[in-house]
Amino acid sequence: MRELIFLEPVFTHNIWGGTRLRDEFGYDVEGNDIGECWGIAAHPNGDSTVEGGSFGGKKLSQLYSEHRELFGGIEGDKFPLLIKIIDAHDNLSIQVHPDDKYAGEHENGSLGKTECWYIMDCPKDAKLVAGHNARSREELDSMIHGGRWDSFIRELPIEKGDFIQIDPGTVHAITTGCLILETQQNSDITYRVYDYDRLTNGKPRELHVEQSIDVITVPAKPEKDSLSHTPERTDSAADVLIENDFYKVFKISVRGSFEFEQRYPFLNVSVVEGSGTLDGHEIKAGTHLIAPDGYGSMKFEGDMTVIASTVSRRK
Ligand code: ZN
Repeated sequence: MRELIFLEPVFTHNIWGGTRLRDEFGYDVEGNDIGECWGIAAHPNGDSTVEGGSFGGKKLSQLYSEHRELFGGIEGDKFPLLIKIIDAHDNLSIQVHPDDKYAGEHENGSLGKTECWYIMDCPKDAKLVAGHNARSREELDSMIHGGRWDSFIRELPIEKGDFIQIDPGTVHAITTGCLILETQQNSDITYRVYDYDRLTNGKPRELHVEQSIDVITVPAKPEKDSLSHTPERTDSAADVLIENDFYKVFKISVRGSFEFEQRYPFLNVSVVEGSGTLDGHEIKAGTHLIAPDGYGSMKFEGDMTVIASTVSRRK
């Protein structure tokens, strides 16, 4: 039987970061500007390391290229997904991502970025930026060049447990106090539209206004198609949150014990709340691991919420 692959995350320091990733999850990382925990990552800007077991010490990118059988022999030279926990101690910049076609043509063959968010925690009456209010390309152009941010951005009220899909071309931003599990394509291409005129080391961060205008979808997708409330379970269950061309994402609620059949090419597993065991291994909020191809039945015990993901079978 194949073993679970536990991963040691990589952290980023950001102008908008905080200390929750260390304080609440016990990650061993210094600083008061910890923005992101890249829990399951095989990217040049962050590559998780396997913790223990037969592959201990290997980077995920290396494991993926040398042992493709663990990932169901899927095609593609890059591990397809990237799983992060984001702690927004301050507002993130207003941004947009390109799709595969635009990124391939303008960003050295890079992948585009489709992403989705599970809200692990947020303040009362929190709002996220998802979408915009421009009705035409002309209006988009004039709102952005005129700096009419209040009328441009669309804010959606959110609560803990909400799920938001961000297609390429969607204007978006995570706001102060939100803690989010992000499942995304393995890409780091971001076009920053507006950064609240903040300074880093005395200078504003670079904006990518023209690329943003190129890729923003007009009009934006309706609110109701962007946001959903996920089920809150008192009994154990696995709920599918989304399935599209890039990923299939599950919310697994463990209340006592639960068996989940790992019948996908691989399954990313991140504990977002609570603690317990998985096939006898202790896991808790902040644990990230991969169950490889052919793993079969996974037995969860305890009281916890897990976000799991795999590549869509439609691809
Ligand atoms: Zn994004």
